[in-house]
Amino acid sequence: MNSTASSDTPAVIDPIYRYDPEALSLLEVDGVLLQEPYRDELNPTIRDEFVSRPPMSGWNILRPIALSTPVPSEDVSAQFASRPPMGELSVLREEIDKARTTLSFQVDAGADTGLAPRTPSGPGSLWPTFAPPSPISEAHFWLDSPFPGGFNQLYSPGYQFGSTGGGRYRIHHGVDIGNPVGTPVLATASGEVVHAGPDNPALLGPYNDFYGNSVVIRLDRKLNTSRGEQDVFVLYGHLVSVDVQNGQWVGAGDYLGGVGMTGIAIGPHLHMEVRIGQNSYLHTVNPALWMRPAAYTGTVAVRLLSAAGRTWPGVQLSLYRYEEDGVRWYRVVETYPEKESIGPDPSWGENGALSHIPVGTYLLSGFVNGEEVRQEIAVKDGETTFVELRTQQ
Ligand SMILES: [Zn+2]
Repeated sequence: MNSTASSDTPAVIDPIYRYDPEALSLLEVDGVLLQEPYRDELNPTIRDEFVSRPPMSGWNILRPIALSTPVPSEDVSAQFASRPPMGELSVLREEIDKARTTLSFQVDAGADTGLAPRTPSGPGSLWPTFAPPSPISEAHFWLDSPFPGGFNQLYSPGYQFGSTGGGRYRIHHGVDIGNPVGTPVLATASGEVVHAGPDNPALLGPYNDFYGNSVVIRLDRKLNTSRGEQDVFVLYGHLVSVDVQNGQWVGAGDYLGGVGMTGIAIGPHLHMEVRIGQNSYLHTVNPALWMRPAAYTGTVAVRLLSAAGRTWPGVQLSLYRYEEDGVRWYRVVETYPEKESIGPDPSWGENGALSHIPVGTYLLSGFVNGEEVRQEIAVKDGETTFVELRTQQ
């Protein structure tokens, strides 16, 4: 990626996005994160996640590292390189049970993520059969970061693809990455600009003027699917300025425009979307599976199905991180709703995904209609870990 592309915008970054273990462990969430100037710089969905957090006595367990995905720098790589031997997972189980008891309110009620608790009434439609590639490859990471180094690279975990951010927003058809107005937005892969400018009269979202100033690029690379070779489109929304033109070819890392909040956006952020087959709001897939993970992080593709192979929509699964001094709650992944054509990626068959997960050993677990599902997984540097969970129901 050409990180020198553009612009005279100063690289002012919110310090919470810099990975600094010491700083993170010292962060006072209520005290620091909500003070100016950070508050207005944060992606609204990220900000809301912090704002909605109730004070909790178990805060020492839910350390700040659970709030934002750290992007390890070179000098902390050793910290993430150590993984517990898988044989010690029986210990992990006990610790998880302890952690679950302690955190039952936060984890099971979803209160701590700002996500509304949900009890699925039953499984959804039959999910496509899928066999993960063997070995699990990194071949699906087609997209570089849309931002130069030094800027926030992480999408908001509180408003994942397919989620509603706990009922606060529309079902999300992409991911949001918060950065200040004017932050240079770069092409994540090479292709032809097929849209540049306001989404009116052209329709890109559920209605006009939804994504505001936008750029859509049809990638040079095509996706081989069971239905043949398909176009892949990447949409960049809410830009303050658009500096490319329709029909123009751009290379990965080329400057497209600046971060803004045009269209329907509460604060400055980039909305990024991946569309397969058609440049349409109803042909989106989870960008988390397409974006190359940050250094020393990986991606997790989750497939949560009923015994009969039906998807379980709207289920929250917790990802617990195993560390030398214990088990930490890390993040919630919410399985996709069966609405608005939100569905699996043809390359993964998943109904949930997370990226930028620090390398390490994790337990993915949750409850589906009272039935517990759990699976240990290892997140590896620059790879996608595929995990399928089946309920007895
Ligand atoms: Zn968005």
